[in-house]
Amino acid sequence: MPMHQLTIPRRSHDSKPHERECDGRSQCPESRPRLQGLDPHTAPSMSQIRLQLLPLAVALVQVSCTTSGPPADLAIQNVTVIDAVNGAREALTVLVSDGRITAVQAADEAVRATEVVDGSGQYLIPGLWDFHVHLTYDARFTEAMPGLFLNHGITSIRDTGGPLELVVPAVEGMRAEGVTAPRVFFAGPLMDGEHVVYDGTDRPLLGIGNPDAETARANMARLAEAGVDFVKIYEMVSPEVFAVLVEEAQSRGLPMDGHVPLSMRARNVGPHVQSLEHLRNIEMDCTANPAASVAERRRLLANPDGIAGGTLRSQLHSMYRLPSVADYDEAGCREVLASMMSTIQVPTLRLNALSLQPPFARSDWSEVLEKLPAEVAADWGAPSLGPLGGRSADPVFPNWSLFLVDLMHQAGVPIGAGTDTPIAFAAPGYSLHSELEMLVRAGLSPIEALRAATLRPAEFFSLEGEMGTIEPGRLADLVLLSGNPLDDITQTRSVQAVVIKGQLLDRSELDALVR
Ligand SMILES: [Zn+2]
Repeated sequence: MPMHQLTIPRRSHDSKPHERECDGRSQCPESRPRLQGLDPHTAPSMSQIRLQLLPLAVALVQVSCTTSGPPADLAIQNVTVIDAVNGAREALTVLVSDGRITAVQAADEAVRATEVVDGSGQYLIPGLWDFHVHLTYDARFTEAMPGLFLNHGITSIRDTGGPLELVVPAVEGMRAEGVTAPRVFFAGPLMDGEHVVYDGTDRPLLGIGNPDAETARANMARLAEAGVDFVKIYEMVSPEVFAVLVEEAQSRGLPMDGHVPLSMRARNVGPHVQSLEHLRNIEMDCTANPAASVAERRRLLANPDGIAGGTLRSQLHSMYRLPSVADYDEAGCREVLASMMSTIQVPTLRLNALSLQPPFARSDWSEVLEKLPAEVAADWGAPSLGPLGGRSADPVFPNWSLFLVDLMHQAGVPIGAGTDTPIAFAAPGYSLHSELEMLVRAGLSPIEALRAATLRPAEFFSLEGEMGTIEPGRLADLVLLSGNPLDDITQTRSVQAVVIKGQLLDRSELDALVR
C-alpha cells in the first residue's frame, strides 16, 4: 500500500492526564522518586499535589504503586506489541519517559502521560536496524540518509566501511545534541590486505592496506583512537594479517565483521568474527575439495603482475564463485555452517538476489525516487538502466543465496538484516523492508525476519539488554505500524509513527525529514 494512503494515528496532547488508579496489581509506570513532580520544570497542578500528598499512608504499604510523580512523557495506548522474544501481545499500553520504556501494561489500566497516541488496531515493534550501511559511499546521500532511515522506521544503523575523515564527521553530526537521527555505529575503513579493493581509483575510497602484521597493528591502534565501534576485515587480507587483526580487536573488546578473505576458508573465519557479510566467498568452502581451491587462490593473490586490488578480486570471484556453486557438497557445507553458529550472517539478499526482485519493478518505485536527493533520483530513474539496472539476469547466484540462507537458518545460524545502501540501487530506509521480504522468501518466518532487524544487531554490540525488545528499561526506539507484520512482512512498510530516543515523530513529521 502506498505510504500516502495510510491514515495518521490519532494523537492527543492531553493537558489533564488521567490519574493512574492504584490497584496494587501492576508495576508503576515511573521509577523516579516520589514528589519529584514538584520541581519547577514539571510543576503539577494543585489537585495533583493533593493527590501526591494525601495517600502517603497508603504509599507506605504500596510503594510500588504510585499515583504521583510526573506523568510519562509518552503513552502508546491499546496497541498490539510485537517483538522477537515475546511474540505478539495484544491490548497493551507502552509508556516512555526520559528516552526509555518505563512500563508495558494492560490497556485498561489508567495512564498519566504528557503525550498520548491511540494505538488501537495498530502494531508496535522495536525500532528497526539496517545492519549494513555506507553513509559516505556516495556523497550525494550522506546528508539525506538519517532522515530517510527514520522515515522508514530505521532507528539504528551500522556503517560497515568508509574512510575515517568522512565517516567520523558524519557520525558526529548524527550523534550531536539535539539532532534527530538514528543511532549510529561505525567501523571506519575496510581493513584490506596488501592489495586494496576500494582504493579510490576505479572504486570509492573505503579501504586501507594491511600488507603485514606491523602495519595491521598500527592501523588498529589508529582506528581504536578514532573511537570505532567495531572492525571490518576485508577480502584481500592474508591469513597472517587476519590473525593479527582478530587479536588486536579482541584485546580492545571490539566486535568484528567481515567478508571471508579469499585467502582463507570460511570455516576458519567464522569462529573468529561476530558477523559476516553478503555470504561472500562462503560457497568456495562448500565444495568437495575446498583445500585445493584455497591453495590456488593464495597463489593468485601473490599477484606477481601487480593487478589492481579491485580487478584482482573480480577475477577471483569470476573464477571461483559459480564453479563452486556448481560443485556444492552438502556434507562439507554443513561443516562450514557448524563453524558459524555464533556468527551473524548478513546475507544482503536484496543485493545478492537483486534480479529476482529488482527495485525498478516495484509498484512504489517512483514514490521511492521522489524521496531521494534529486540528482540520484534522476540517475536511478533513467529508463536506459533497463529492468535490472544493468545487472546480470543469471539466476544461479541469486538462487544459491536464497538456498544458503535457508540452510543456515535451519541449522540455527543467526541471520542479520542489512542492505549495503546506497550500493546497487538500495534506497536508504526503503531497502531494509525489501531485505525483510527477501529473508521471508528465503525461509525465515516474519518474526524471525524481525529478529534479524532488531535483536540480532543489538546482540552484535552486546546491547540486547538495552534494545531489540519492548520491555521496561529498554531504550525507547519504536515503530508503530498500521498493518500486522506477522501476517505479512511487507506491513513493516506501513509506518505510522516512530519513536527515536524517546521522541515521537508522527507521519507528517517523518515525511518532513525527506525532500
Ligand atoms: Zn558494504
